[in-house]
Amino acid sequence: MSCIKNTNGITTDGTSDGLGFNAFSAMQPRAPARTPQGLRNGRRVKDADLPAAGVYLPNNNVLTPHMRSPEYVQMSTAAAMTLGLMPGKMHRCDCTRCLNLLLTYPEGCRANCAYCGLARHREAERDYADRNFIRVDWPAVPMEQVVDIVARDVAGSAFHRMCISMITHPRSDQDTVSVLRAWTSRIDPEAIPVSILSNPTTMTVEDVRRLKDLGADIFTVALDAATPGLFDRTRGKGVQSPHKWDKYWEILLAARDVFGPQKFGAHIIIGMGETEYEALQLVQRLVDLGGHSHMFCFFPEQGSLMDHLPATPRDQWRRVQLARYLIDYAGVRLGQMTFDEQGRVSDYGLPAAELDAIINDGVAFRTSGCPGKFREDVSACDRPYGDSPPSNIASFPFQPNRTDLRKIRRQLGIPVVRG
Ligand code: SF4
Repeated sequence: MSCIKNTNGITTDGTSDGLGFNAFSAMQPRAPARTPQGLRNGRRVKDADLPAAGVYLPNNNVLTPHMRSPEYVQMSTAAAMTLGLMPGKMHRCDCTRCLNLLLTYPEGCRANCAYCGLARHREAERDYADRNFIRVDWPAVPMEQVVDIVARDVAGSAFHRMCISMITHPRSDQDTVSVLRAWTSRIDPEAIPVSILSNPTTMTVEDVRRLKDLGADIFTVALDAATPGLFDRTRGKGVQSPHKWDKYWEILLAARDVFGPQKFGAHIIIGMGETEYEALQLVQRLVDLGGHSHMFCFFPEQGSLMDHLPATPRDQWRRVQLARYLIDYAGVRLGQMTFDEQGRVSDYGLPAAELDAIINDGVAFRTSGCPGKFREDVSACDRPYGDSPPSNIASFPFQPNRTDLRKIRRQLGIPVVRG
């Protein structure tokens, strides 16, 4: 994708060199357009009613067949390549360690989140199974075929974790249960643990308990927006979407009670208009509750209601990425850090040599998410290039090398300590 300069000199891939940040006032989503009646609720796909046959590759100049969970799931391009269902090579990655599965229906997700490629307002433009999400296509595959492939060699599988992503749909709760059962009936969840990326809007506390009882290991809530005001603007009333901050917190707190310490967490997107202080306040709150935060760098997803807005400047992203790691894994507290008048981190609250060692370790700059089998602080969910192009990586899906770390230090404005 080419870079577009916006008014504050920051490009859509975040290549600002200055001390930039995405301010609330600059990050207003577009209003969703009205979808013609005949194109709502997946009508095009349901009227054509083409039977699905095997793997469906999106945007391949064929009519989208009628596919539904739990028989069908979608998966990231990286997961499809790792399973051998799609050809191709990823930049500097052999595989992904997380099998991300997404529930699928012709009606798609009934929410309208402003930053999301799956949002309902796209109905007129693109069938659900053809929509880009976190920068990539999501092929649709029969669930039975997914389980067949992994069950053939569980011990030798590249995957350290499987994750079921719910969407906002009336069948989402029961179909998540069916997909989880289909997995655990043939694959030991001790060998490849399962995470649930939940949709609190349709869930009850009883649903949370059921998923735990059926063998789910970690439960996460995609808060995405770091403050109630930003949540409402990007996922609630601001874009005719049904989500409510308080409902998300109700299910998040239920997950804490049901799944227990270190087994629940929340997704936060950085750069949608929150200050760095606000984002890190949320990170600290999650740690104090016993959970973790999983972070994403805002990227203007093509076709979304925020696709005209700038990606998060790299300096803002790196500061929050590093500070989040310190709070989540190095025992540093928000109160030890200092912030400037615009809420930007100005001091990380650690002696320079200690901070230096953590930067050099590089893990702080890797993709964050549920852990895999390497280390507690290394996410199985590596989402290659889900929040940036490979030319200007935000979340590293691999261990950053010395050249990467030099670039990261430049973005942070922290030179190498010589001594
Ligand atoms: S609920 Fe999730 S999948 Fe649906 S539009 Fe919002 S972010 Fe996208």
